[in-house]
Amino acid sequence: MIKRRKTKTVKIGTVKIGSRYPIVIQSMTKVPTVDVARCVKQIKQLVNAGCRLMRLAVPRRADTDAFAKIVQKVDIPLIADVHFSANRAIEAIEAGAAKIRLNPGNIKNLKDIIRIIDAAKMHKIAIRIGVNEASIRDLKKEPVPAQKRTALMLKEMKSYIRLFESRNFNSLVLSAKSSDVVRTIEINRAISETFDYPIHLGLTHAGLPEDARMPSAIALGTLLAEGIGDTIRVSVAGNPVEEVEIAKQILITLGLYKRSNPELIVCPTCARSEIDVIKLARQVEKAISRIDKPLRIAVMGCVVNGPGEAADAELAICAAKNKGYIYRNGRKVSAVPESKIIPALLEELQKI
Ligand code: SF4
Repeated sequence: MIKRRKTKTVKIGTVKIGSRYPIVIQSMTKVPTVDVARCVKQIKQLVNAGCRLMRLAVPRRADTDAFAKIVQKVDIPLIADVHFSANRAIEAIEAGAAKIRLNPGNIKNLKDIIRIIDAAKMHKIAIRIGVNEASIRDLKKEPVPAQKRTALMLKEMKSYIRLFESRNFNSLVLSAKSSDVVRTIEINRAISETFDYPIHLGLTHAGLPEDARMPSAIALGTLLAEGIGDTIRVSVAGNPVEEVEIAKQILITLGLYKRSNPELIVCPTCARSEIDVIKLARQVEKAISRIDKPLRIAVMGCVVNGPGEAADAELAICAAKNKGYIYRNGRKVSAVPESKIIPALLEELQKI
């Protein structure tokens, strides 16, 4: 069991974030916010995939107007993603945002930041304050050696928190982003050691889905395994549903998310196998695709190591030449010809 790092609880509409609550998956719409119908459609797809918080960019006045309409049409708390404009932030708060995402470093005027804080406080909403590596470079207007960036990001985060706390605003979620995996791990460790606000984890610019999967899993997985992180977003240059699916896989792998469907375990195959294990695994994958039970099902290529390695699976197929043995909780229950393996597996599934 992973022990979560203790944090305050922050309420974002109907969702609570912090160590006392499950880690929340969030994503971001990828269609223009002014296109209300497409936004609502995408939000509903993401909710079905497992997303529980949704962020929308609001760069123009027309976007905050559309944001107000979208809030009325969906059941999930919405976060407004604001850059550079205090007016957009305040419009989004008044439009019904449950949280705004703000990098105070790009709101140049202190009075404007205070206006945003006071509006958020009045509407009882949360603010995610972010620092990122790119803004540190901009701030210094000169190259900053990699080893100094973590300390500078932490220093910047401290100054923001001091400002928010000086206005008695505590509904904060913290995020520190980099596109570098090691730095993301370093800075989030430092932030979690220094503050007890919930932490939003993510990598910036993670890449196309096939490229984003690995760095996201390593960065977010390392931090989550250490108990750091209360809400996560996997950034993918692609369909946002993939972001949610990757996020879910990371959490499931760490035992931080309860799965509702079977987990398929497949042996890597080797020279001992006398059947096409991959083909059989694909057939099993298809056969169990509509099962909504959190079972572990194993497909093993031989009866030499297969039964032992699949002993903790509720159901296992251990294949031999032209046949398969079905195991339930490590005990052999039947032997069937290869053509009957899938029906025999499904028959055993019915009994669970
Ligand atoms: S289960 Fe059997 S076939 Fe599969 S990798 Fe292990 S030894 Fe090889």
